[in-house]
Amino acid sequence: MQRWKEEIVQIGQFGRGDSTPIDRREQLNVEKGQQRLEGTQAIKETKGYIISRMKEIGLDVRLDAVGNIFGRREGSKTQTGAVMSGSHLDSVLSGGMFDGIVGVVSALEALRIMNDEGFANERPIELAIFTGEEGSAFKKGLLGSSVLVGHIAVDDALALQNDEGRSLRAVLDQQELRGDFQIDFDEIEYFIETHVEQGPVLDQERTPIGIVENITGITWVTAIIEGEANHAGTTPMLSRKDALVASADVASFVNKRAIEMVREFGGSTVATVGKMVVHPGAPNIVPGKVELGIDIRDGDQDHLNKLTTEIIDFIKKMEGKYGVKCSTEIPIDHPPCPCASEVVTAIEKATRQMGIKAKRMNSGAGHDAQNIAEKVKTGMLFVPSINGISHSPMEWTEWEDIEKGIQVLSLTMKTLSQLSA
Ligand SMILES: [Zn+2]
Repeated sequence: MQRWKEEIVQIGQFGRGDSTPIDRREQLNVEKGQQRLEGTQAIKETKGYIISRMKEIGLDVRLDAVGNIFGRREGSKTQTGAVMSGSHLDSVLSGGMFDGIVGVVSALEALRIMNDEGFANERPIELAIFTGEEGSAFKKGLLGSSVLVGHIAVDDALALQNDEGRSLRAVLDQQELRGDFQIDFDEIEYFIETHVEQGPVLDQERTPIGIVENITGITWVTAIIEGEANHAGTTPMLSRKDALVASADVASFVNKRAIEMVREFGGSTVATVGKMVVHPGAPNIVPGKVELGIDIRDGDQDHLNKLTTEIIDFIKKMEGKYGVKCSTEIPIDHPPCPCASEVVTAIEKATRQMGIKAKRMNSGAGHDAQNIAEKVKTGMLFVPSINGISHSPMEWTEWEDIEKGIQVLSLTMKTLSQLSA
């Protein structure tokens, strides 16, 4: 078995907490997901295993204050900015074998390929593993990379608590996964993250490599629609203030407008009403209040703004139509993040050189790369997710596609590592 495949299979065992290796999709079991949350025994084993693999190939391994892990291979011109690659090792609750893992293992394998070939990189190369990307243990997504780029202070991150009431600091200290290294982005020139697509496009089009041009912008709109809770039997239809009926209009509008925008602009617009909490929530009471959670995503900032504004205006209109009261908030607003053209071009050139079919696309999911992109020239490389399934025990990516991803990543890293500063 190839060493990278062996690593993915082994980490899958840590994540499931059993001793049966899974290397075929038919062996997956929906009841047996990955539980590599920060603070668990599984993530401790996974990190320990990967760190020992990093040391085996001579990388200088350093940990920072929030447990981000870095492994450096010096270059012949160490004064030039490094090429960094990596991803995360943590999972969602009951996740799959590939999300995050593919990015870490691919970067590790790319470095081994350079060793095997005796490749002399001019720029240093840095493998990066970010703490708590999924936010499943400490309720804050992209945690490690957010600290790196200054969105969250180190002490605030360390004070976050998991469901057991344990702080990130306590968890990392107990697992001996905290250090005092500080990465300096002035010394990093490029970052590339390999990741599973988590959508169906590459699988449907039988294309092994996606070259990300844009990481989607995400806006959340939360709304509270207040009507009047009343007796479902005695309140006449014409004198009701039904908060759920108004909310249903909102849900249809969100869906309809997103579809229209995709047709009109051909872009990456998606919008979802994923949360609707009905109060008091009984069949015999006219709904008095509904809490709505709406997720809007677009690779284009103008389109994202346009749809967000339209949705908020529409919600306001429900007041006149149904006699309800509406308030809205925007708790999350991440702008779209364009990838660096230099990195996009380098990945594309690598695929052409190797005769591997590739497609430029947007990422509909958020990734550590969008944080790192604020500091260094960043790109992403996608490999297909079978049927677009992710964040599920049934998540699968074909081994030959991962292999192609590794080949393209290593060639891209080699190219970037030779660019003159
Ligand atoms: Zn991920």
